[in-house]
Amino acid sequence: MTAPFRNFIAGEWVAAAEAAPNVNPSNVADVVGDFARGSAADVDAAVAAAKAAFPAWSRTVPYARHEILKTVAAEIFARKEELGRLLSREEGKTLAEGIGEVTRAGQIFEFFAAETVRLAGETLPSVRPGVGAEVTREPLGVIGMITPWNFPIAIPAWKIAPALAYGNCVVFKPAELVPGSAHALVDIIVRAGVPAGVMNLVMGKGSVVGQRLLDHPDVHAITFTGSVPTGRRVAAAAIGGETMKKIQLEMGGKNPLVVLDDADLAIAVETAVNGAYFSTGQRCTASSRLIVTEGIHDRFVAAVTERLKGLVVDDALKAGTHIGPVVDEGQLDQDMRYIEIGRSEGARLAFGGELLDRDAEGFYLQPALFTEATNSMRIAREEIFGPVAAVIRVKDYDEALAVANDTPFGLSSGICTTSLKHATHFKRNADAGMVMVNLPTAGVDFHVPFGGRKGSSYGPREQGSYAREFFTQVKTAYTLA
Ligand code: ADP
Repeated sequence: MTAPFRNFIAGEWVAAAEAAPNVNPSNVADVVGDFARGSAADVDAAVAAAKAAFPAWSRTVPYARHEILKTVAAEIFARKEELGRLLSREEGKTLAEGIGEVTRAGQIFEFFAAETVRLAGETLPSVRPGVGAEVTREPLGVIGMITPWNFPIAIPAWKIAPALAYGNCVVFKPAELVPGSAHALVDIIVRAGVPAGVMNLVMGKGSVVGQRLLDHPDVHAITFTGSVPTGRRVAAAAIGGETMKKIQLEMGGKNPLVVLDDADLAIAVETAVNGAYFSTGQRCTASSRLIVTEGIHDRFVAAVTERLKGLVVDDALKAGTHIGPVVDEGQLDQDMRYIEIGRSEGARLAFGGELLDRDAEGFYLQPALFTEATNSMRIAREEIFGPVAAVIRVKDYDEALAVANDTPFGLSSGICTTSLKHATHFKRNADAGMVMVNLPTAGVDFHVPFGGRKGSSYGPREQGSYAREFFTQVKTAYTLA
């Protein structure tokens, strides 16, 4: 037995009273390690350290923070295979996807390293004679971060990198299922030279560690990515508590991919299969509603089914695997429950949906494709978060657009078409934060805003230079000279 991986609080690696195993979903006999499960007192210590570190850290010259973030990026790039392997082992996405995600984390740190010296303000003439007005941006203070399991390093990176770049202190609570990548990332950050208290890691349960972050009066802001129900709790606690915290919530999606008669069939099939099933469908941007016009419907369904037959579902770390396991038993149960719901609602299970046996015991599910679905079915309205997609047949573009927008969510929305007219109209009229033309609904760049509308998101966008809207606050100063 090796000792559990520890939390990082006030510049020290600190053991917690409890620990829990981090289990490989491709092989439940393989335990990545035991990881600390922190307490409310651990959060209190981390917040106190962050608060104490803030005055000095927030006044460091931006270039000092640039050097630290650049060092973090360099180490992530240098270790991308090893970190990608760790990520795939604990989360279950394929090794190629794991390495890709780690690379993305490096790019995010590189991007925000450069952003440190680009934080411009504004100067304006006052309406009063002899007076000048200046608008500057300042850090917020202590930022609590609560992250989900589906992107164990990229999501923490796109919250931590801008927070540090702009001079904030961090208390980071990763998802219970993926503490390994979080621990490795924090280890890299602290060795890159952040002063004690600036970067804290408290692993543990949402109901304990997460909840204490929400309730703590010295936490100034919370950035959260996760499910809609937890997002609502975050909002209620963060705004209804002793201090009104700034909040940023990224939650679910029920993302539509429209396929029109004039689409290039090969592009449409790749776009749909990638968007719906890669990363085991466990992406908030996954295409779970495939909205297809009549003229191409049967050809599209036949070609997607053929493509699904060729996909290898197996151990995430095995060469040749296209789709890894579902992340854990609870998520697998949810996926199976929705497959049953789809059947009972009258949709036709055209492919997959069966549990699969592999060499080791893991959570293997064959990608499931429903046809003959309607947009009012639960499988078309509720986020499943697994490799399950439903085809909805529509008459024409107008109906496709109406169905695409008829959802409580609004994260990402896609269309496959060769018509400039329809692509242009869709970009303008899709009620979503991100729109994709002939590209999967999932898969985004790091230097442009990420986020959605309606029930998907709340608060300022993440990523790119737009991240400053959340991670800084403006000050207006007047001077009579
Ligand atoms: P998922 O597990 O599907 O990613 P959740 O919303 O359950 O979505 O979890 C996202 C993050 O929110 C996780 O880090 C989880 O521990 C945390 N969390 C869960 N419940 C709470 C809560 N009551 N307060 C704060 N954080 C929570």
